[in-house]
Amino acid sequence: MREHDVIIVGGGLAGCRAALEIKRIDPTIDVALIAKTHPIRSHSVAAQGGIAAALKNVDPNDDWKAHAFDTIKGSDYLADQDAVAILTQSAPEVIIELEQMGVLFSRLENGKIAQRAFGGHSHNRTCYAADKTGHAILHELVSNLRRYGVHIYEEWYIMQLILEEGEAKGVVMYHIRDGEIDTMRGKAVMFATGGYGRVFNTTSNDYASTGDGLAMSAFAGVPLEDMEFVQFHPTGLYPVGVLISEAVRGEGAYLINSEGKRFMEDYAPSRMELAPRDITSRAITLEIRAGRGVHLDGSPGGPFVYLDLRHMGKEKIMSRIPFCWEEAHRLVGIDAVYEPMPVRPTVHYCMGGIPVNTDGQVRLSADSLVTGFFSAGECACVSVHGANRLGSNSLLECVVYGRRTGRTIAQYVIDRKLPDFDSQKYVNSARQRVEDLLNHQGTVRIAKLRQEFQDCMTYHCGVFRTQETMQEGINQINNLKAQYDNIYLDDKGGCWNTELIEALELQCIMAVGDIILTSALNRKESRGAHCREDFSTRDDGNFLQHTLAYYSPQGIDIKLMPVVVDLFEPQERKY
Ligand SMILES: Cc1cc2nc3c(=O)[nH]c(=O)nc-3n(C[C@H](O)[C@H](O)[C@H](O)COP(=O)(O)OP(=O)(O)OC[C@H]3O[C@@H](n4cnc5c(N)ncnc54)[C@H](O)[C@@H]3O)c2cc1C
Repeated sequence: MREHDVIIVGGGLAGCRAALEIKRIDPTIDVALIAKTHPIRSHSVAAQGGIAAALKNVDPNDDWKAHAFDTIKGSDYLADQDAVAILTQSAPEVIIELEQMGVLFSRLENGKIAQRAFGGHSHNRTCYAADKTGHAILHELVSNLRRYGVHIYEEWYIMQLILEEGEAKGVVMYHIRDGEIDTMRGKAVMFATGGYGRVFNTTSNDYASTGDGLAMSAFAGVPLEDMEFVQFHPTGLYPVGVLISEAVRGEGAYLINSEGKRFMEDYAPSRMELAPRDITSRAITLEIRAGRGVHLDGSPGGPFVYLDLRHMGKEKIMSRIPFCWEEAHRLVGIDAVYEPMPVRPTVHYCMGGIPVNTDGQVRLSADSLVTGFFSAGECACVSVHGANRLGSNSLLECVVYGRRTGRTIAQYVIDRKLPDFDSQKYVNSARQRVEDLLNHQGTVRIAKLRQEFQDCMTYHCGVFRTQETMQEGINQINNLKAQYDNIYLDDKGGCWNTELIEALELQCIMAVGDIILTSALNRKESRGAHCREDFSTRDDGNFLQHTLAYYSPQGIDIKLMPVVVDLFEPQERKY
């Protein structure tokens, strides 16, 4: 058994920022950071558009309250407003800190950090490093981790959260390089394992975004909050689903249909292309459904619409959003200076997650906590995004709540002893699990089963939902889950067995998908990203509540938890 004072699972922005904070507060605290990828290959590195903060560099009338209002309205009033106030009040300070750590933000002529427009934000407040913001921040954080002496366990896959008698004690880990299985115990365990885009068939997320931390928490008895809220980003590049950042619209690009019309004027006339993502994704889906999408040969009735940058000119495109130009050029052969890009909605972000309070402590219920368990970043739900996240608020959440959770943990571990558990028991059962997978004599290939599951989720729990399609989806995923017992692996080895990792990830994908569908079925209203054709309005009387879903092999239990409303009363949400 290995041991460290603090175990952080996840090397993205949230995990790295927490680790740094702990070390800054007390360098003698022994911190381990574990990731199944190399930390700088975490999905955070792919973030493009930027990070929001009311710095007032471009717009002197901005302030944290305006940022908070935009965020809460964007969330369709489901965000916890105390958490949003902390997010938006801390924002300017954490950006300055990042810049002092060495992050190279883009600048204005006067030398101040530049800020651009972003969907749903009423002021220009998104700070950026061209369209490679995540890359710029994560690289700096990871080099600082090394400087502060954090123990980095890279390419170790966490198989299980060890949680006994309401206390998180450690993790079971598998070394991808050589198949070694071990446990690690710690006084505090933090999950910063990112999102679950791979539960769906078209996503902007990387291959590692399989919802492992969410599933492992659920398997250990921790509820998951608001999982029905899946963000579809309006502009995934067709057909690959790769993200074309909202920064492109922030810099002035148009969305046009097969008739050449800027159709957003029919859906959000005051914000046009910069309406929030849920509204813009629905608008694109409705245009495509109405036959005003485009085919690859340019004829109408096809599966995508156009994102048109041509009027912006080469110089602006190449200086502000060079990476997006390059993506379209490399992946689909489009030169966006001269041709419009084909786009359609793609699964992008997970608003729900492991429920935490504003100190990053994981909740077991509306009024109780799990001892020694913490979480931040995309896998956590604090909830600052409610039913719909605004662009550039997620990197901000990772940094603000990563830092805050780090502070809580640094306090928490003082005078605590390392917990005890029967390590051999966990190692034996993990070995058995791996052996069973390797020795399976089934007929079903993992890639095929995963594809069918992802197709099922996309079809039955997409941008628009109904009772009937979701119920059918649940029946189908039960059949697909049963097929898992009939899989087989070609690779029986212990060295870089990525097929085995995919098999373990598929268990997580399936559990997370089940929880998303069950939570969505229970919410009989439309709010933010959760749009039901059979319950088309928001119902504050019954559903101004968070969902808490408790998983067990027998089924999923749903409970509700009140929303904190202490700044702005819910209003109708129009743009
Ligand atoms: C293409 C793209 C562009 C985006 N652009 C923006 C943007 O401009 N602005 C913005 O605010 N947000 C943006 N987002 C969202 C934002 O980037 C993410 O929400 C955020 O970076 C998530 O950070 P994280 O630290 O929570 O997790 P991640 O960066 O996803 O890191 C997760 C970590 O957990 C590890 N891990 C997971 N499971 C296991 C396991 N079983 N065992 C061991 N390790 C594990 C992974 O290896 C990884 O290190 C974008 C997202 C995408 C996909």
